[in-house]
Amino acid sequence: MVKSGKINCVIVKDLSRLGREYNETFTYLRKVFPALGVRFIAINDNIDTAKEAITNDLSISFKGVMNDEYCRDISIKTRTALNIKRKNGDYVGATPVYGYKKSEENNNRLVIDDYAASIVKDIFKMRIDGISADKIAAQLNDKGVLSPREYKKDNNIPLPRNGYCDKANSKWSATTIIRILKDEIYTGKLIQGKQGTPNYKIKELVKRSEDELFITENAHEAIISKHDFDLVQKLMQLDTRISPKTDRLHLFSGMLICGCCGNRMTRKTVAYKGNKYFYYYCPTGKKNGCKGENMVKEDDLTECVTESIQAYIKNVTSLQDVLSGIDSSAINAERCGRIKTQIAEIQKQLKKTADFKSTLYENFISGILDKDDYKALKATYSKDEQKLNDTIKTLESELDECVNNTSKKALWTEHFKQFENISELDRNIVVQLIVSIKIFDKTHLQITYNFEDEYEQALSVLEDMTEAV
Ligand SMILES: [Zn+2]
Repeated sequence: MVKSGKINCVIVKDLSRLGREYNETFTYLRKVFPALGVRFIAINDNIDTAKEAITNDLSISFKGVMNDEYCRDISIKTRTALNIKRKNGDYVGATPVYGYKKSEENNNRLVIDDYAASIVKDIFKMRIDGISADKIAAQLNDKGVLSPREYKKDNNIPLPRNGYCDKANSKWSATTIIRILKDEIYTGKLIQGKQGTPNYKIKELVKRSEDELFITENAHEAIISKHDFDLVQKLMQLDTRISPKTDRLHLFSGMLICGCCGNRMTRKTVAYKGNKYFYYYCPTGKKNGCKGENMVKEDDLTECVTESIQAYIKNVTSLQDVLSGIDSSAINAERCGRIKTQIAEIQKQLKKTADFKSTLYENFISGILDKDDYKALKATYSKDEQKLNDTIKTLESELDECVNNTSKKALWTEHFKQFENISELDRNIVVQLIVSIKIFDKTHLQITYNFEDEYEQALSVLEDMTEAV
């Protein structure tokens, strides 16, 4: 069109819109356009050949502008495409995390890799049992389990270029174990965009802030339950205070608190007549304001805690029995029933509105209503319908919640119930049930259990019920 004289001015947003390749574009600007008397304007680059001819001076800055524009363009485009995928909960990583593989039907979804997932489960289980990351790694290596990197190599899964991998010919290491234990992806949650380059010019990775992350719950099937995952995070926090050299943690490691000063208590070994005895004591000492009268023998403490746990589980179980009776018969069922009635009522109204709407048309045809009235009334009814439909949706999600509430309540009591018949304590039981133990003196201690909020809540429900009776 330029050549046939139909156009005498070309306007572009950016110079890069004219052409991607510098030499060709520059030929147009320097030769083709001037020869044909065409004015050229690039708005963002502030170029207008009517004001200023293209000189060689300008060409230098052109080159910069063009390359820049081109790179920026591509960078923005790939970025946007990736972000859309991330928002959809699509997995955009090149390599799936150990324990998962990419789905054959949908390359953007993760599915469980049975073998690797079983190893991940073992790792979490061992950690909950009190085995240190070092020892877990050693055990896996002893058993000849391939490290994530070697496993991927063995299965022709592409290896990541950086980050989630170990060195060549790698074995399991504490670092790998800890990375797996800390990865929320195993609970089904997909967190993407943790790191990224701020723009195409800066190649260094920066950590993104929370609101820049793309988080999708239940993006894929979980390997580890949320409860076990949280438990392990708690354990790892506790264990940072404990000597890293111990292979297996002691029964109460990191859990005992001095009732006098609030400090963590220390374990010590006392040898007496060829026997070894273990004690816990507060290291603060009298000088720093702790009476230190609460040194306890580990055996005594174990016996006392075992009895307390047994009694507590009995309480929880009987509480569950009472609550489950109330739950299904009274409170929850009553609420669910109420919501159901409300939904039925709205559905009735909806039906009425639909009936009105259909008679409206008949009235219009038979000449009772003129066109304007018909239109106005129809619009009103449609609006009503919309409102009623919205209300139904809200009520339905409330009903869902109400139904789920019953099962959620049961869950925490089930958690205690699984240890109903224990006779001896082990590290697993202690961390599953107990948050901390405060020791005041040899006979006086205070145990804080897991799910204390739920327990309190259950008790208050019970109280409400008794008052009502
Ligand atoms: Zn103390």
